[in-house]
Amino acid sequence: MRRVYLDNASTTPMLPEVIETMTDVMTETYGNASSIHYHGRNARTQVESARKLIANTIKASIGEIFFTSTATEAHNMIINCAVRDLGVQHIVTSPTEHHCILHPMEHLRDHHNVQLSILKVDHLGRIDYDELNTILQSSTVKTMLTLMHGNNEIGTMIDLHRVAEICHDTQTLFHCDTVQTIGKFELDVSSTPIAFCAGSAHKFHGPKGVGFVYINGDNQLKPYIMGGAQERNMRAGTENVYGIVGMAKALDLAVQQQDVRKEKILALRQHFVQRMQAELVDISFNGDQEGDYLYNIVSVSFPPSDKIDLLQFNLDISGISASAGSACSSGIESDSHVLTAIGHDDRRKTVRFSLSHLNTMEEIDYVVDKLKTITPAV
Ligand code: PLP
Repeated sequence: MRRVYLDNASTTPMLPEVIETMTDVMTETYGNASSIHYHGRNARTQVESARKLIANTIKASIGEIFFTSTATEAHNMIINCAVRDLGVQHIVTSPTEHHCILHPMEHLRDHHNVQLSILKVDHLGRIDYDELNTILQSSTVKTMLTLMHGNNEIGTMIDLHRVAEICHDTQTLFHCDTVQTIGKFELDVSSTPIAFCAGSAHKFHGPKGVGFVYINGDNQLKPYIMGGAQERNMRAGTENVYGIVGMAKALDLAVQQQDVRKEKILALRQHFVQRMQAELVDISFNGDQEGDYLYNIVSVSFPPSDKIDLLQFNLDISGISASAGSACSSGIESDSHVLTAIGHDDRRKTVRFSLSHLNTMEEIDYVVDKLKTITPAV
């Protein structure tokens, strides 16, 4: 049976070069990176080379990159430590953030008296920069703004430089969830005042269960996971050497091939959107598609019909993997919190297709042909 994978915002297939690099590390470099003998030193060298590569990619200092298990851990670390160690009493965010951001913030609001302000978003998921400015300017306590660079469900992006400048002017710490954009858009923390951001390897064709956090050197956080002295005391636990090396390899490839991959994905996207618009009835696209947007995400809503409740199921039995919203919400019948925040009509069914450079035109044609048998077609 034919299988088409269009769920790359959930996770991506690993590239053969990454698997090869990791296999070499698993076979040869099995020492504990904290051991001082030959095998340990080899592992340490690999970890530190990976750190240097990741730091160079986002123009950070080596000492500002810490390895974590996932971006979820990284974001939890940032949010909790900013309150605990930096005296943040007010967090400003948007309703369309990932749950690994929203849930720790709600916990801090409910149990630690942290003030939480949620920005408005419009029907495309865009924030209002005037509202942001007003809220940050009028905040009288230490404040952190947490916004995602690109939305994982609808692809809408913030103007990173504009937000960073507003934060800079209002002495606000800026924490940016860059999980979906790392490796797809250039990120330069040396020229954009960002306090914290994070990446997750499996979003850019690397391994699952490994990520990193960037902590700007001006913001000293205390240890989050306590135990050994790994990651300069910040995050205890034996390093996932092959995961870290695999992540660096995957990021290096993503950056080197950024333009070629983007061109390929944009061509696939254009063909996909054009065919759907021409051949399907009453569909709509979610998210901002002007200026900068996450070009790999195509969020489509389909009109109510007899078959529509089984849309997700029918795609799956046709061999097509895509998400109802984010992967975490697939299988749940109600709309995702992101679609709810943008005022989406919940009688319409939404599918998030997310592409990668590994997809082909034939796959896109196959998906549209199948959609025509499942949803109302011209
Ligand atoms: N932030 C965004 C925007 C995401 O899309 C995801 C994963 O879907 C995360 C954070 C969390 O990443 P991970 O599950 O790798 O920890």
